[in-house]
Amino acid sequence: MGRILIVEDERHIADGLRYNLEAEGHEATTVADGEGALGILIRERRPFDAVILDVMLPGKDGFAVASELRASGQFVPILMLTARGSAEDVLRGFEAGADDYLPKPFDLPIVLARVNGLLRRRQWNEQEPPPSGGRREPEPDVYTFEGRTIDFSNMEVRVRDRVHRLTVMECDLLRYLVRNAGQPVSRRAILQDVWGLHESVDTRAIDNFIVRLRRYLEDRAAAPKFLQTVRGVGYRFVPAVAPD
Ligand code: CA
Repeated sequence: MGRILIVEDERHIADGLRYNLEAEGHEATTVADGEGALGILIRERRPFDAVILDVMLPGKDGFAVASELRASGQFVPILMLTARGSAEDVLRGFEAGADDYLPKPFDLPIVLARVNGLLRRRQWNEQEPPPSGGRREPEPDVYTFEGRTIDFSNMEVRVRDRVHRLTVMECDLLRYLVRNAGQPVSRRAILQDVWGLHESVDTRAIDNFIVRLRRYLEDRAAAPKFLQTVRGVGYRFVPAVAPD
């Protein structure tokens, strides 16, 4: 159950989404342009659990809306609706701060599954213990290394006196990297394991996230010590001091 804001100017798509989300028990609100969405989320500070944001909007497009939301400290999970087959849209969306994306035209069950995925992740990150299923190890909610604290419960990174808020996917990606500490992980594996994306997405989407995480964690983002690039493979998280 969640409160979902749908930002889409095509009335039949917006109404179709709202109808189906409500049928699933969610509260859904529609708004037809970016300015309206920014007004609701930033100026009115109305609380939502997820935003479905179309790229193609009159006036401000979805990329601008996502960037402004993040710049204003609004970290609500964003599912972006992009043009089919446009790797460029996907990359720009992630760069702007989107958490997930779907190409249009989409199948409603897939939208609903993706929205539920974002809502579930948010809940995992907000509750203390992760769901105990099968062989999963219990994970700490707070991970500390080299004077840095990743607080998964509060979705923030603390480095000395600086605090950086994390988006849902930044938080999930950090969890994944911490879980695989010391090992190289490929961009493809990250897309599959963190985003659940099995389509042939441009894996450079991941690089935008790593750039942001480096800004939070590294002393010098241009010379990363903790989030290392592994040439030809992907990335490796190296906490210089092993956790207790
Ligand atoms: Ca549109």
